[in-house]
Amino acid sequence: MPRPEKVFRSEALILRRHEFGEADRLLTVLTPDHGKLRAIAKGVRKPASHMAGHVELFSRVQMLLARGQELYTVSQSEQVEPFLPLREDLDRGAYAYYVVELLDRFTEPEEPAPMLYALLDAALGWLCAPDADLSLVARYFELKLLSLVGFQPALFRCAVGQEELQPRDQYFSAQDGGVVCPDHRRGRSVLPLSLPSLKALRFIQTRDYGEVARRVRMTPLVRQEVERTLADYLVHHLETRLKSVEFIHRLRQREQG
Ligand SMILES: [Zn+2]
Repeated sequence: MPRPEKVFRSEALILRRHEFGEADRLLTVLTPDHGKLRAIAKGVRKPASHMAGHVELFSRVQMLLARGQELYTVSQSEQVEPFLPLREDLDRGAYAYYVVELLDRFTEPEEPAPMLYALLDAALGWLCAPDADLSLVARYFELKLLSLVGFQPALFRCAVGQEELQPRDQYFSAQDGGVVCPDHRRGRSVLPLSLPSLKALRFIQTRDYGEVARRVRMTPLVRQEVERTLADYLVHHLETRLKSVEFIHRLRQREQG
């Protein structure tokens, strides 16, 4: 993929936003064809700026970008989809931070990412739906992201022996890349994985979101086990614990306390 033209127009999702200098903002954006870019939006913090309100966090915009030596410059930006509930509702916002951070950690700058772009755009929309099951959106996002970036966990065959898994309780080994049967678990670092949790993971991994949202019903225990299994696997791949995972845990503790 050649580097983008000096000046080009693109749709973009705003992943991060920092104050920069007196009146500027430094943005991290995801574009379908040019991947993740760092871009400076000059003067947007001035009240008279035409771009103020068009570079909001998590929104989808139409941008005119110019490539510079170090950074891109945003010449124009127009909001297309604000995803307003993500900035107005603390829980939805926390999940948006989480999916964005996950995507950020698994992508390199300037690598074309049309599928990841479509997934993130869709996920931000699902998180806005009034009846959204936020943690189910997060689990779906995790599994689809892992497939897209080449770390799809093995859920149908034993990750060690490669034999087809029997319908019974199993184990999960992040290091081995998926489910490990009771015979092959010995001497490995594994987590127990119940059959209902394995079935939920398989369903989420192989179906589209509409079907998952309509049909997946998890007991609190299964929900917890599925979350812990994926968190363990993601942390193994990222090596560091995601800050926003801890943020969501803190929120949850606050709700329960
Ligand atoms: Zn096995």
